[in-house]
Amino acid sequence: MAKSPENNNKGKKAICSFCGRSSLPAEPFIEGPSNVFICPDCVELCHDIVTQSKKQVQKKVFHLKEVPSPRQIKEYLDEYVIGQDHAKKYLAVAVHNHYKRLMHLDSDSDIEIDKSNVLLVGPTGCGKTLLARTLARMLKVPFAICDATTVTEAGYVGEDVENFLLRLIQSADGDVEAAEHGIVYIDEFDKLHKTSHNVSITRDVSGEGVQQALLKMLEGTISNVPPQGGRKHPEQSYIPVDTTHILFICGGTFVGLDEIIKRRLGRQLIGFGSELAGNADKKAEYAQIITKVIPEDIIEFGMIPEIVGRIPVITTLTSLDEDALVDILTKPKNALIKQYQRFFEMEKAELVFTDDALRAIAARALKHDIGARALRAIAEELMVDLMYQLPDKPKGAKYVITRDIVEGKTPLQTARQELKETA
Ligand code: ADP
Repeated sequence: MAKSPENNNKGKKAICSFCGRSSLPAEPFIEGPSNVFICPDCVELCHDIVTQSKKQVQKKVFHLKEVPSPRQIKEYLDEYVIGQDHAKKYLAVAVHNHYKRLMHLDSDSDIEIDKSNVLLVGPTGCGKTLLARTLARMLKVPFAICDATTVTEAGYVGEDVENFLLRLIQSADGDVEAAEHGIVYIDEFDKLHKTSHNVSITRDVSGEGVQQALLKMLEGTISNVPPQGGRKHPEQSYIPVDTTHILFICGGTFVGLDEIIKRRLGRQLIGFGSELAGNADKKAEYAQIITKVIPEDIIEFGMIPEIVGRIPVITTLTSLDEDALVDILTKPKNALIKQYQRFFEMEKAELVFTDDALRAIAARALKHDIGARALRAIAEELMVDLMYQLPDKPKGAKYVITRDIVEGKTPLQTARQELKETA
């Protein structure tokens, strides 16, 4: 058993049994049995070696023995993401195939299975990022969310596309090999579309230029990643990252894509929503049309054919209606309302939302037109006063949130009095 630094080598010079150097005055050498010592430097070195080897063990986790079946993947997604069955099914198959392909790389078959990068098309706040994030959590692979609008073509103000990979390495705690099997979610992918008014003297540095830069990465190449991020420069040393096995999931709203699809479908569409159609009808029409997307539509939108060719799976998500928003508030494993109820439980209180109150929250969120994103802000605003006072209130109380409270018909002060508090 090693002795603590205070009672070791008192008065005499200790020699480190590992590196052979002697102790400096007041330097804490750790003493083991039979006059064995270890210096602080060697302790640190040992710590590094042990951490490194632990990471090696963790790496094995990324080499999945068993790839979950598409059905299992979808069932897992169902626990966290409401609706969006179309996207869930496509993603489940694509991800299953991707990791299956990785497991069978060493087999002698002549048939090479291509990588199946995925494009998610759907309005803001409908669950694109959530789907990608949930997948990565299920598979326990490194995951990075990147914003396509932050990058520009090399040589201009902005970041290089390689920074996406740096994020992935960071999420893998610096383990490059693990990162090479991770998932990158590229948000705002549609913002890279070619600008149609692009005259020849102004280069499209944030649109088409970035698409070109992304091409190789999406397909699979050795990318040189700058360890400090930002822009690459010649004197820097790079981390080489093989992107062949990285799954890229691209997401975007593609505003106006429905018009492109409509134009292509042309006469087949007679009978679909007229100009007079209401807002709800228009949304239903949009949802119906957008599922008919084909790669040519994405090219027409302004993505270059080469990049569309490297994202073989295209799937769509629909905007969320009031019912879906109510479900999002209550059903997912980590639903917002469940989280609040847990907080109240910790304070020995009970929190109840009436069905009406949930509908009122959903209806308010719907008006913002940013999907489920609005739910959190509305709920926070509603709950802030209660959360502020809760720890000071008597324990064992019950709080019932009603529609009137949500709609502000009862002023905040009176609302609090109207809560049924039973000590
Ligand atoms: P986007 O489609 O813009 O990427 P996100 O996936 O980031 O939207 O959604 C924002 C938040 O809204 C999520 O963190 C989640 O809490 C909630 N959300 C959105 N869609 C869903 C859904 N279908 N099911 C459950 N929660 C959702």
